[in-house]
Amino acid sequence: ETSAIVIDGKAIAKQIRDEITEEVSKMKNAIGVTPGLAVILVGDRKDSATYVRNKKKACESVGINSFEVRLPEDCTEQEVLKFISDFNDDPSVHGILVQLPLPSHMNEQNILNAVSIEKDVDGFHPLNIGRLAMRGREPLFVPCTPKGCIELLHRYGINIKGKKAVVIGRSNIVGMPAALLLQREDATISIVHSRTKNPEEYIREADIIISAVGQPNMVRGNWIKPGAVIIDVGINPVEDTKSPRGYRLVGDVCYEEACKVASAITPVPGGVGPMTIAMLLSNTLISAKRIHNFQ
Ligand code: NDP
Repeated sequence: ETSAIVIDGKAIAKQIRDEITEEVSKMKNAIGVTPGLAVILVGDRKDSATYVRNKKKACESVGINSFEVRLPEDCTEQEVLKFISDFNDDPSVHGILVQLPLPSHMNEQNILNAVSIEKDVDGFHPLNIGRLAMRGREPLFVPCTPKGCIELLHRYGINIKGKKAVVIGRSNIVGMPAALLLQREDATISIVHSRTKNPEEYIREADIIISAVGQPNMVRGNWIKPGAVIIDVGINPVEDTKSPRGYRLVGDVCYEEACKVASAITPVPGGVGPMTIAMLLSNTLISAKRIHNFQ
């Protein structure tokens, strides 16, 4: 019986953070500029507050400045737009991130469109996504989670060119940009979503599977082509009476089954999760370098 290589996102993310720490320090020494990331958090969702705290800590750990704005749930869209506009003009800020989801009374599109494309480190500006989709065009930033997925494939030496890839999920933040990225890397892609009939038919064909659905253990072992590589983005809580929290986190792919069929697989947690924040730091550094024309 074979057993898949476990793709260690935590270790790769650490390696990337070390590389960033070194480059940030080089930049400081050479031109006296410290990259800066501004994070805007609206409302008091616990999960969002945790993400923002982790992003701030990650910035500190590599020497990137972080600026945080917290606004109450009932603030107006105009107030958020004003902070974005100030950060757009602030030379010490190289990246601006609006933590999603926003309260329902706000228009997410208006707000994301207001972030300067030069500072759109989340890569969600329609201009960045449009360029990602077009041949011969370069986005200024690539969305962090899909970028992290591709980075894992690269760092494990997994060949993408000419491979059949399936992306499960088509969200603006993960599935769709992941598919565009795989296509840019010369894979031939299928995109499976909630209206796909018999998703397993597409998944069985794939050499590379990126799953971003949000359904625990949806992809079964017998849906997987022997030797396929699996990047599992899903983070799903399932009840677990043995855990002190009463739940544990699992991916979209049934891990135990997949390990016996796949050639490599990301665990949940410890796979894609740590890569997302590492890519945010990387995008902030890229932005500071571009703005200050520093190689
Ligand atoms: P969304 O809910 O925005 O998108 C889910 C996608 O999956 C949709 O395109 C939906 O189809 C599709 N889908 C839902 N059910 C099925 C099904 N039964 N079969 C096939 N496709 C289905 O989620 P996100 O993209 O934001 O996130 C996906 C998962 O990734 C979540 O578990 C989330 O927690 C995790 N995540 C992890 C991150 C990380 O850092 N590791 C970052 C971001 C997300 P349709 O379009 O038709 O509705």
